[in-house]
Amino acid sequence: MADRHEENERLLAGIRSWVEIESPSTDAEAVNRMADLVQGELDGIGLETERVPGRDGFGDHLLARTPWQTNEPGIMVLGHLDTVWSLGTLAARPFRVEDGKAYGPGIYDMKGGAYLICEAIRTIMETEERPPLPITVLFVSDEEVGSPTSREVIEAEAKRSKYVIVNEPARPPHGAAVTTRSGWGRFRIRVRGRAAHAGSDHQLGRSAIAELARLIVKIEGMTDYERGVTFNVGTVQGGTRPNVVPEEAEADVDLRFANPDEADSLEQAVLGLEPEGEDIEIEVFGGINRPPFERSEAGMALFERAKAVAADAGVDLKETWAGGVSDGNFAAALGVPTLDGLGVVGAGAHAEHEHIVVDRLAERSDFLLGLLRTLD
Ligand SMILES: [Zn+2]
Repeated sequence: MADRHEENERLLAGIRSWVEIESPSTDAEAVNRMADLVQGELDGIGLETERVPGRDGFGDHLLARTPWQTNEPGIMVLGHLDTVWSLGTLAARPFRVEDGKAYGPGIYDMKGGAYLICEAIRTIMETEERPPLPITVLFVSDEEVGSPTSREVIEAEAKRSKYVIVNEPARPPHGAAVTTRSGWGRFRIRVRGRAAHAGSDHQLGRSAIAELARLIVKIEGMTDYERGVTFNVGTVQGGTRPNVVPEEAEADVDLRFANPDEADSLEQAVLGLEPEGEDIEIEVFGGINRPPFERSEAGMALFERAKAVAADAGVDLKETWAGGVSDGNFAAALGVPTLDGLGVVGAGAHAEHEHIVVDRLAERSDFLLGLLRTLD
């Protein structure tokens, strides 16, 4: 269809302009440049916008509300403007289109989906017909680093919402929505032993690496696929030279889990680790970052409504579980019906082959618009 093609190209041009403003989470100034642009667009289409000032070195969060806000709970549409890509990535890997796929840093996660939110709201504001529910858009600046400064804003807005729509990337390969996500924890383990000459004084040394190795086996051993619990020791560092008993070693641990009731016990299992060796100290930092996003009846009812709307836009919407976390975890854990992964179709989040499928942009845009106009 010719107009579908034109619509895809028009949306892609808009997404490109967002991709070409780099916005790594760790660079507040860069993320704020992105927020300036988005705020300008949302102001321009008639939303009431508000900046929640960033802190701790992170950028601002952006709230925008349709002007017909009432006291009744409405729809929160959630996204993030930060990406995992450092400044300079764009110069190394500029925006390009190849075989119907558009590539660029953050295009799939989630500049594409964020742009579609703005497009949907623009269309709503340009037409007479008002959706049944007020809409609040929240774009945060620090999702990719665990939302340390936006969590409270997300939770406060989610609590006053009837539904939360998260326009994070749709799941590959066909763009399924996300109705369940694991919970997530991050830990760092630091071991301190005692250095010694590996030849003449080996018995006086206390190897931090040997101790860490024991701990790693223990930690990885707590993985239980049946319960949806995985522990991954993803990095290790330690030691100085082959002929020195290593005094220090450390490791980073990533925890995923399905059952919210296990959050405390899993966290305690890591925080409470003890050294086995004598004269060795360990310190454990970190904890649970995001609670699991559980499949719920209300969430599935929301999915069924979305599925019907999607069908009208020519999308056969499926639902799936995702091992990755998002800000949808915070909303869902509060018991607010939440549907995630409604953004663009593509693949390769956080990887160099990150891309979106160009000829599915218009249908995703129509679908989101339809959903915002239908939910009541
Ligand atoms: Zn994301």
